[in-house]
Amino acid sequence: MADGTQTRLPLLEVEGLKMYFPITAGLFRKKVGDVKAVDDISFTIFEGETLGLVGESGCGKSTCGRAILRLYEPTEGRVVLGGEDVLAAPPGELRAMRPRMQMVFQDPQASLNPRMTVAGIIGEPLDEHTTLNRAQKLARIYELMDKVGLNRDFANRYPHEFSGGQRQRIGIARALALNPKFIVCDEPIAALDVSIQAQVVNLLEELQDSLGLTYLFISHDLSMVRHIADRVAVMYLGRIVELASRDDLYDAPMHPYTQALLSAVPEPDPNAETSRNRIILKGDVPSPANPPKGCNFCTRCPKVMDICREVEPTFGEVTPGHFLACHLYQEAAVGAANSGANPEQSASLQDPNFQQGEA
Ligand code: SF4
Repeated sequence: MADGTQTRLPLLEVEGLKMYFPITAGLFRKKVGDVKAVDDISFTIFEGETLGLVGESGCGKSTCGRAILRLYEPTEGRVVLGGEDVLAAPPGELRAMRPRMQMVFQDPQASLNPRMTVAGIIGEPLDEHTTLNRAQKLARIYELMDKVGLNRDFANRYPHEFSGGQRQRIGIARALALNPKFIVCDEPIAALDVSIQAQVVNLLEELQDSLGLTYLFISHDLSMVRHIADRVAVMYLGRIVELASRDDLYDAPMHPYTQALLSAVPEPDPNAETSRNRIILKGDVPSPANPPKGCNFCTRCPKVMDICREVEPTFGEVTPGHFLACHLYQEAAVGAANSGANPEQSASLQDPNFQQGEA
């Protein structure tokens, strides 16, 4: 969607979003620090597109999705959905906004009430937000079950009577009940058998086409994100380090962390697989309670420079539609802006060790 985004309107705008969880100690639970789960991230999602959000477990991607929907109260930042400020909305307004923004959760087993029937689960948001009578509600429940490929005859069954894939379909039907515009899909296939994953992803794609939905698709499965996303954002230790169109990101990753992540993805072509150059990162991910000074990737980056340990790189656009937080490119971008040269080429020239697409 490198070009598609130019003609589409932004649906969701996130600016400087921070989600810190306080660390307390002592008898009086005095605050002694923060876990910086999401630390100053900004991005836009355009109407009808899917933005993939990838990164290792614990990088803050699920927290980011929940903070956007205000399932957590963010520490700072701005989230605008369809022109309405989600974070500034008082409780009554937020409740009125809820139908437009929904979430599909990772574990359908845990996210569905085991004591409610399928009809009860799917119909619950209708009870909360609509004045439909009993017959209208049942008609809507059947319509939603049809949409997600569930047999209407099973409306009075309980979640434990379904397979994992079917349970996720129930979760999707529930998310669709109030005709949302925007859905956060939080690892929606991670708990499913591999054979079922493609079915659920295909269903999400079909629903997006037929209902004009916009997705934030959170996943650690880079192959699946490549399949479903139009653009992809890569998160590391609470920050977005690279954001680009899917093809740009997968064909020519620029950030050293993205290069390492993608180098771990097996190639379907056996010839490409034998020549795959795996980049092994050394060390552990630092604690989000105590991130390193400067670039948050500097403790593991194979291309670290002195400046990286002192100065935090800013997240900026280095080529049209390609955003990055890395000093390798920022120095190049400044040079390019002064000389009129292509910043990507300048980066390669300035850093002889840098090879684009090394992954
Ligand atoms: Fe590596 Fe430095 Fe770029 Fe951070 S800023 S990713 S440490 S080269």
